[in-house]
Amino acid sequence: MDQVMYTDVCIVGGGPAGMILGLLLASQGVDVTVLEKSANFDRQYRGEIMHPRFVQMMEQIGLRTFLEQYPHLKLDEGGLYHKDKVLVPIRFSDLVPEFPYAFWMPQPILLNALYDKGKMYPSFHLQFHSSVKELLKEEGRIVGVKAETKEGEMLIHAKVTVGADGRFSLIRKLGQFEMEYEHYNHDVAWFTTQLPQGMPKQIQLVMTDSHFCLVLPKYPDSIQGGITFKKGEWKQIQDKGIAHFRKELAEASPAFKEFTDSLRDFKSFTILQAKTMFVREWAKDGCLLIGDAAHCASPAGGIGVSLSTATAIVAADVIYEGLQKGDLSLNQLGKVQDIRCEDVRTVHQLQLKQEAMQMSQSPFMKKIRPYLISMMSKMSIIKSVQKKVFVMSETLPINARFNLR
Ligand SMILES: Cc1cc2nc3c(=O)[nH]c(=O)nc-3n(C[C@H](O)[C@H](O)[C@H](O)COP(=O)(O)OP(=O)(O)OC[C@H]3O[C@@H](n4cnc5c(N)ncnc54)[C@H](O)[C@@H]3O)c2cc1C
Repeated sequence: MDQVMYTDVCIVGGGPAGMILGLLLASQGVDVTVLEKSANFDRQYRGEIMHPRFVQMMEQIGLRTFLEQYPHLKLDEGGLYHKDKVLVPIRFSDLVPEFPYAFWMPQPILLNALYDKGKMYPSFHLQFHSSVKELLKEEGRIVGVKAETKEGEMLIHAKVTVGADGRFSLIRKLGQFEMEYEHYNHDVAWFTTQLPQGMPKQIQLVMTDSHFCLVLPKYPDSIQGGITFKKGEWKQIQDKGIAHFRKELAEASPAFKEFTDSLRDFKSFTILQAKTMFVREWAKDGCLLIGDAAHCASPAGGIGVSLSTATAIVAADVIYEGLQKGDLSLNQLGKVQDIRCEDVRTVHQLQLKQEAMQMSQSPFMKKIRPYLISMMSKMSIIKSVQKKVFVMSETLPINARFNLR
């Protein structure tokens, strides 16, 4: 027989969005159950670099100094490069003087830190090995989930069910949430290599003649490299052979040298589909989608954790208010989208524009691209674009009770 349990808020997915939402609600005594299908927080290629907007949000909810006790790197600058020439510098001190750094923390460290904090609140419960398979419905309303756990099947009844289960969200599918748009134009091939001695720890986006590469210093002393290419192009790259690709990578950045010297085949790369998607309505009666499940940004921008976290913070406020009023309807939960959609749409549009420019393979565009970008970098518009992506323009509109200091 199925085991049955009751909770106020059932959060499906213990990623950054689910964990932050759970923590904030539990800090107010709300009974929260986070269901995570994995056995632990170990994950290899995930959001690890968090722009200053993440630091600003952590300060707002009182988590910044707590998180900074855990292993991390602070990165204060970077830029867009064409080969070894910087076209557009990024200096976080110019953009957000109070917190002039991006924060690099491997996601397992971040999630374990959030879990450590969660353990301080008796009403915070996290269950690993709990894979949600079905939604429970009553009179058209979502009232919980059915999960497979180590102990067998479990029915979890909740006043509100939150889908924080990432970009392949099952809750989105089971709840028949409609997609407003989904763009999938490129892929990213990721790899990890040693940071060469003496090389500065900077975020670099490097243009080669054919591709864009990401050079991201990774805690403690590695580089996470990424190469973006058009959807389907990986096959052509492989057909041309490893020697050809090795040459392109070696020319892209001195940081890749050790990796390319030892590269014998394509097995060292992890390919990720870079999708941008936006769910038309994030809420239904008794159910809300947050984070990548509701609005997934291309991973090439390194912005997904920040966007997901911001939505989780707003969701905490809206759900808390709904619990107080006894209203967890579509109308109440829909407030999360009302507050968050403009920021998300702006970032998505900027990413798509950047993608179009970066992916154009017309010989003319390839030739003029570095000059065009270099010219644009001298205009104030570039700074305003950087601000929109890296900085939280205003503090999030949430009640001051959400302070985890
Ligand atoms: C390769 C890569 C690199 C990236 N780099 C960056 C970066 O540098 N910076 C950045 O900000 N963002 C980056 N991102 C994006 C970032 O990782 C995501 O935007 C962010 O993790 C989204 O958080 P989330 O909590 O919404 O979802 P997720 O982090 O995807 O968490 C969802 C959780 O739900 C669990 N789950 C799924 N289905 C179920 C189920 N049925 N039952 C129970 N649990 C379930 C999953 O196991 C997972 O733990 C990157 C993404 C990728 C893939």
